[in-house]
Amino acid sequence: MTLTLLGTATSQGVPVIACDCATCKSTDPRDKRLRASALFSHNGKNMVVDTGPDFRQQMLLGRVKHIEGVIITHEHNDHTAGLDDLRPFCFKQQMDIPVYCLPRVAADLRERFAYAFTDYPGVPRLDIREVGFGDTIPFAGQEIEVLEVTHGALPIIGLCTRDLAYLTDVKALPARTQVQCKGKKAVVISALQHTGTHSHLSLAEALDYLTTLAPKRGILTHFSHKMGRAAEVDPTLPVGVEMGYDRLVVR
Ligand SMILES: [Zn+2]
Ligand SMILES: [Zn+2]
Ligand SMILES: [Zn+2]
Repeated sequence: MTLTLLGTATSQGVPVIACDCATCKSTDPRDKRLRASALFSHNGKNMVVDTGPDFRQQMLLGRVKHIEGVIITHEHNDHTAGLDDLRPFCFKQQMDIPVYCLPRVAADLRERFAYAFTDYPGVPRLDIREVGFGDTIPFAGQEIEVLEVTHGALPIIGLCTRDLAYLTDVKALPARTQVQCKGKKAVVISALQHTGTHSHLSLAEALDYLTTLAPKRGILTHFSHKMGRAAEVDPTLPVGVEMGYDRLVVR
């Protein structure tokens, strides 16, 4: 199983529109970040995590030819706005695309994308499958576990396989989730910037969680431009921890 980071920015992306800061003006490809998303791949099958505003771009850049399903971690726009661009897959694969999400998120999607749940010709055909914390999502003969992550006031979905965990939009990890993520080969965890907010971990807080979870490889994601340039931040990270970047493949 591999996990490809399709996007590693927070909601505004990097560069930010109309910003002239050093990160937004950087020419380093690592500082060009689409909105947070990831792709599990195994035995030629693909499971997308989140369909944000850059989803179309991410599918084209990654030359993704088919998908077996989508997991939506939570309802925020930077994780859902591209849902309509599932249409090419629905048409090509002649199927309703399974969309795994919490019941609260399912209700939100049905409201925001109401037309997709009518008989109108050409709408994306979505097969919403509600899941809860502790459930497993079958994928390519393996299982992806649904974990609880706290994102400000919202309980949202984190994911893990036997070897790796993907935890985005984290403010806190419940004790059970920490147990489930301990000792993995790789943990991807969000770190917004140097200072935390009510709903996102700071860099220092994310590093504390990585110390607790003790993966062989810790990878940070979901950055604001305020985090700074990869070339200046990455060398300051502890051994075994790195800044994620778009198109990074975690094996
Ligand atoms: Zn900026
Ligand atoms: Zn969010
Ligand atoms: Zn987000």
